[in-house]
Amino acid sequence: MKALEQLVRTNIWNLQPYASARHEFEGDAEVFLDANENPFDTGYNRYPDPLQWELKQAIAKEKKVAAANIFLGNGSDEAIDLLFRIFCEPGQDNAIILPPTYGMYKVSADICNVQLQEIPLNNNYQPQVVEILARANEYSKLLFLCTPNNPTGNCFEERRIRQLLTNFPGIVVLDEAYIDFAKHTSANQWLAEYPNLVVMQTFSKAWGLAGIRLGMAFASEAIIALFNKVKPPYNVNQLTQQKALEALQNADQTKEWIQTILEQRDYLEKELKTLAVVEKVYPSDANFLLVKVQDPLALYQYLVKHKIIVRNRSKVLLCEGCLRISVGTKEENQQLLKALKEY
Ligand SMILES: *Cc1c(COP(=O)(O)O)cnc(C)c1O
Repeated sequence: MKALEQLVRTNIWNLQPYASARHEFEGDAEVFLDANENPFDTGYNRYPDPLQWELKQAIAKEKKVAAANIFLGNGSDEAIDLLFRIFCEPGQDNAIILPPTYGMYKVSADICNVQLQEIPLNNNYQPQVVEILARANEYSKLLFLCTPNNPTGNCFEERRIRQLLTNFPGIVVLDEAYIDFAKHTSANQWLAEYPNLVVMQTFSKAWGLAGIRLGMAFASEAIIALFNKVKPPYNVNQLTQQKALEALQNADQTKEWIQTILEQRDYLEKELKTLAVVEKVYPSDANFLLVKVQDPLALYQYLVKHKIIVRNRSKVLLCEGCLRISVGTKEENQQLLKALKEY
C-alpha cells in the first residue's frame, strides 16, 4: 500500500471539516443554548451524538473491534459513497470491482464520475488475483471484494483475499454484509495486519433492521478519521442509534434468527435440488440461494402470479439462467416450494 496521503484526494486531505455545536463542546453542562434547538423536551429536540460513542462502545464489544476503528453510516451505502469521495479524484482515479457483484459500487462510482475497471470472477466465482494485480495502476484507489458475494452467495478464498491485501496498491474494501451467515469469521480481526483494509458490515440483514439504515465500516484510525471528516455531521439519527443499541442488548435474538435462517437455507437447498425445473443450486454462505433454472423469466413471472417475488439475475454476467431467492420463514419457503412443485 502507498502512504495514505498519496491515496487520498488532495482536497479531502486538506479539508477543514464542519465543526458542529455538539462537536465543539463536549462535557457536562446544564443549559444548552449553542445549537438553535427547540428547548422544549420532545425526546428528540436535541441533535444526536455526531460520533455515536455509546452505540460504538456496544458495537465494539459485540464485534471485538476498538470503537476508534469503527465508522457508522446511513447504511453501508453511505460508506461506499464516502469511500469514492475520499479516495477517487473524478475523471482521473479508478476503482476495481469483480462482477457479478453488488450493484451499488457501480452506481456510486457513476454518481461520482469515477472510472471502474470490471474484472469478472472466474468460473468458480473467485477473484482472478493475477489479473487484478496486473490491471491495477497508479490511479487504482479502491478494490471492492464482496464476500460472501451478492448474488453468487459464496465466500472468496482467504488465500486470495490476503494476496490482494498484501499486493494491491490502494484500499481493499471487504463488503461483509452477509458475514453472519458464513462459515468463516470476519476479516475485521485483521485490521492490525493490513493498513489498507476496510471491512463493511450492516444491520440490514442478520440484525433484521434494514429499515433503520445503519452500516458499519471497520478500518485503521487514520481511515476512520477521513470518514468522520467527510460525512454529514449528523448522518446517523437518534432513533436509529437507540434502535441499534436495543438490538445489541438483545443480540441473542439475532443469533437465534441466524440459526433458523441457516436451517431453512439447508432445507430450501435440499428441496430445490429435487425439483425438475431446477438445474443447479449454488452453495451459499449467505441468506439467499442462487438457483439455475430452465426458463428463468417464465418461472419468475409464474411466481409473481402466485404473489411470490424473487430476484431475476439471469441477465447478469456468469449468472445466466439464475434466480436469486432469499431464505424466508419456514411458511414462506414452503409456499415457494409448493408453487414450484405445481409449475
Ligand atoms: C444488502 C447489502 C448491503 C447492505 O447495504 P445497507 O446500505 O447497509 O442496507 C451491502 N452490501 C451488499 C453486498 C449487500 O447485499
